[in-house]
Amino acid sequence: MLKFWSHKYTLQPLTSLGALAEGKVRSGALLKIQWPDQKIGYADLHPWPELGDAELDAQLAAISKGHLSHLVEQSIWLARKDAMIRSGGKNAFQGLAKVKNHFLITDFTRVEDLTIEEIKKQGFTTVKVKVGRRLEDEAKWVEKFLRMHQLGVRLDFNSKATPDSFERFVNSINPALRPRIEYAEDPFAYDPETWAAANQLLPLALDQEYDRVQWDKLKAPLPFKVVVIKPARQDMKKAVDHANKFGLKMVITSALDHPVGIAHALLCAGELKKFYPNQLLDCGCLSQRSYKANDFSTSMIVQGSYLVEIPGTGIGFDHLFDKTTWTAL
Ligand code: MG
Repeated sequence: MLKFWSHKYTLQPLTSLGALAEGKVRSGALLKIQWPDQKIGYADLHPWPELGDAELDAQLAAISKGHLSHLVEQSIWLARKDAMIRSGGKNAFQGLAKVKNHFLITDFTRVEDLTIEEIKKQGFTTVKVKVGRRLEDEAKWVEKFLRMHQLGVRLDFNSKATPDSFERFVNSINPALRPRIEYAEDPFAYDPETWAAANQLLPLALDQEYDRVQWDKLKAPLPFKVVVIKPARQDMKKAVDHANKFGLKMVITSALDHPVGIAHALLCAGELKKFYPNQLLDCGCLSQRSYKANDFSTSMIVQGSYLVEIPGTGIGFDHLFDKTTWTAL
């Protein structure tokens, strides 16, 4: 029998988080899990009711009754990885392959040129921009950005465009600049035919539309080129198998969750990088900057687009876990 404890937290976004979530405070819970072998591991549980997840309190209540949501199952899988490394007294990030991350822009209306100059200085080579709210303004901003800055751009539409508005968006951007758009993520609800057409305009990346894909019926060439994998939300082994089978590029990202979730995403990305150095693109794990700093985010030692270390055993944060108040579930 597993034993569970939880600690509820909130995260305060610094700006709007994208087309799915405005600037509202977000809620989640840290989980402490003990296995019958006495090993203890930690993970995050950060539901996105906007994506159809059950609310946090319902998920926690269900754990006490022995019902585990798919998010909780992922948390257990991640916590077990932490427990194995933690019980050996090792730090998960020491000796791990280094993974570069993109810079996330959740609200481009709040980004100043000075900020962009600063992130270039820090060594970022790619930015990911959340779009899908006002496509015309966004296309103008993206074009201006590409003209002014020698950085790669990833666009995340969160399925808020349509086949027509996506085509208009792409066509309004100077063709000479378009090759610097690395990919467009979830332009609109997944459909093999309309995605195949859109994939001719810009390389597409599959993220939240992942569950709609019937993998066993897919045939090459696929209507997308990249698969975004969130270890907090997806069975990673299955997703990596799909990517391998079809020769897709992979990007590991956080779920815009707590630094504990980010640490797990970074660990998964580093482990994958060792085996897939070319198939794994820049990842999207350093999302702690999207929220007001807390004790956990300030314990992460980050240099530019890389995580350097999180001191402690396992995924780190030992002293913070020790002083956290835990509630048995
Ligand atoms: Mg996305």
